[in-house]
Amino acid sequence: MERCRCRSRPGRRRGGARAMAALGGRGRAAGALLRRGGPPPGLAAAPRRYRYKEKWAATAPRIPPTRLALHHFDMNYSLQLKDLWPSVRAALLCEQKYGALLNNFSPVDHVAQELELLSATDFVSEALKTVQQSQWDVTTEEAGRKESRSLEGSGEGRTVMEAETMTQAEMSPPLCASISSNIKCYTFPRGDITRFRPARPDALGLLDYYLMDAASLLPILALNVQPDDFVLDLCAAPGGKTLALLQTGICGHLAANDISISRTKRLYQILHSYIPKEIRKTVSVTSCDGRDWDQLEGGTFHKVLVDVPCTTDRHSVMEDDNNIFHKRRTKERQMLPMLQLQLLMAGILATRLGGEVVYSTCSLSPLQNEYVVERAVEIAETQFNIRIHVEDLSHFRTLFQDTFSFFSDCRLGELVLPHLTANFGPMYFCKLRRM
Ligand code: SAM
Repeated sequence: MERCRCRSRPGRRRGGARAMAALGGRGRAAGALLRRGGPPPGLAAAPRRYRYKEKWAATAPRIPPTRLALHHFDMNYSLQLKDLWPSVRAALLCEQKYGALLNNFSPVDHVAQELELLSATDFVSEALKTVQQSQWDVTTEEAGRKESRSLEGSGEGRTVMEAETMTQAEMSPPLCASISSNIKCYTFPRGDITRFRPARPDALGLLDYYLMDAASLLPILALNVQPDDFVLDLCAAPGGKTLALLQTGICGHLAANDISISRTKRLYQILHSYIPKEIRKTVSVTSCDGRDWDQLEGGTFHKVLVDVPCTTDRHSVMEDDNNIFHKRRTKERQMLPMLQLQLLMAGILATRLGGEVVYSTCSLSPLQNEYVVERAVEIAETQFNIRIHVEDLSHFRTLFQDTFSFFSDCRLGELVLPHLTANFGPMYFCKLRRM
């Protein structure tokens, strides 16, 4: 709701006039009157009893940042998402859905059973099961076909359908190989808006799960950490994705950095609440400006996550506090794509040859998503002589279509769209390989 401060403040009439003038219409006329220093002829002669004290707004009516954000999104996303925008908009304005990331460092079996009784499922293992099942179906179908072909004695002339089946079978193995199966995240089915109970501590005081937007796990799954990888989380606080990286249980070393000292404290709290001491020792937490990272440890990491500050679209339409659409933060908001580009460049430079970077935001904006990636690839090539390959992540759409709604027209990377039946995201992620 718009908050308007309309009080009679005689000492501040000039400012009030300016505010009214900014509003247009009656206010503009009134402002002009005040500036000329008196009422025009005809109005001055009103008898005393009809005179009234005019009231002026002390400041321009303050439009809440949430309203500004929604207006901005209406203008831009309706062009980008076209017919999809009304449903995405409705979802953004409704309660978001959470996933429960199980804490593998706490005994999880009974928690998994408890969640399954409530009909929640681990969306990661469900996706893998579905793929394995379809792979199995394709393989057996293929074997059956080969058998019948050899019986008929004709090895030549594969039908189009057979050729398609082959392609599917040949394509499937990387689907499973690209997903870390140690991560377990429970979600309720589509359309089910049950809330999870708050996390509980185990006997050692470690919490049993972490509630987060389940779509936030997709960048981590895309990063596909391998045993003993050196991993950098460049913008890590408050630490949901750092925690997920640790749940893979295979990071050789994890560097978690965030420029904000207060947010880094929250990262420490999360590590203390979920991770045993001996594993915490493998994590180094720093509070540096990520843009300078290459001066510290350039070309060192196998995997780098660059989860940048962005317009946090869901937060921006729902919460007035700490809102990037606040008028006084306009400049900061306009500079976001530049900051994002600098952070992504630092992430690329921190990666060793053959290493991989995942760039992610929780915004729908192509200016903060694809354009930043495109520009970074160009700068890496022209200014640093680094060749970058943008990886194809379209198999994520196949794998996780039961849990998330994906945008099918992303030029680079993948984008999860909020939807009333699957109210996760927005989450954009794109994977780059340093060649
Ligand atoms: N990855 C985090 C998680 O999953 O909990 C969320 C990261 S949040 C989207 C972006 C973070 O970038 C903020 O915590 C902010 O403090 C940090 N940040 C902003 N500018 C930065 C910079 N120049 N260097 C490093 N971190 C920065």
